[in-house]
Amino acid sequence: ADVFFELYRQRQQIAEQRDELEAQAQALREADRRKDEFLATLAHELRNPLAPLRHGLDVLRRNPTGEAAEGIRDMMDRQMVHLVRLIDDLLDVSRVSQGKIGLRKERIAVEAIIRSAIEASRPLIDASGHTLTVDLPSEPLWLDADPTRMAQVVANLLNNAAKYTPAGGQIGIAVRALGGSAVIDVSDNGIGIPETLQSGVFQLFAQVDGHLERAQGGLGIGLALVRQLVVLHGGTVEVTSAGTGKGSLFTVRLPLGEAPAEASAPASPVV
Ligand code: ADP
Repeated sequence: ADVFFELYRQRQQIAEQRDELEAQAQALREADRRKDEFLATLAHELRNPLAPLRHGLDVLRRNPTGEAAEGIRDMMDRQMVHLVRLIDDLLDVSRVSQGKIGLRKERIAVEAIIRSAIEASRPLIDASGHTLTVDLPSEPLWLDADPTRMAQVVANLLNNAAKYTPAGGQIGIAVRALGGSAVIDVSDNGIGIPETLQSGVFQLFAQVDGHLERAQGGLGIGLALVRQLVVLHGGTVEVTSAGTGKGSLFTVRLPLGEAPAEASAPASPVV
């Protein structure tokens, strides 16, 4: 009986191992599929700005000083900026994954970060006729953070809010202190994210609507980068959405740092 029991036990074990391997294979196939899809999207996104650039160049060649020239140059500039941003995001993601991004942390007020993020996202927000509501705390909240990287995080969330909200939408950014954290909420009343897909949006190459002809271009790396950078700062980021068409809320929590000495101490009289 012992022998039979032993055989039975071994068979159980093998079955469990087989299930585990099958799950791993499934995960690998899924990752592989996402990568294929990503490559197609990447080629598409990199190619997109080239057509207007070539067209602009043609026009300028024929008519370098004509009335339309100024507008054409502006258009070409925007397309270049877009292209550079895509490529920078791509480089950043791979740098973070390889542990190659060094943070230049300093004591910085959240408000300063929010302001520079808004400045960066303003063109996109205005272009779609969205209204932006900003709600900052009356007292400054201090962080130990890399100002450029954190502004990049917030700008990414604002840009997404602008991208995934039909024209004339409401975008909000609100900051408050809660426990030992600074909490940054970025909200919109746009297309929203179905509940089943919410946990996936921070994955690299994740796009809720995976096909190429999406109205909004993008590579599905913005949120992956956001999460990587927030985690590097010891924080968390999460999304809530009541579902399709119901808007989205992204919440970033970052550990509060100490106020700089000169901000808390009363100014000493000059001797
Ligand atoms: P990208 O915008 O380049 O596709 P992101 O990583 O920034 O990539 O976002 C991943 C996906 O999450 C997007 O493709 C979109 O489907 C969804 N998403 C992100 N932000 C929002 C938002 N504010 N509202 C609705 N969907 C969003």
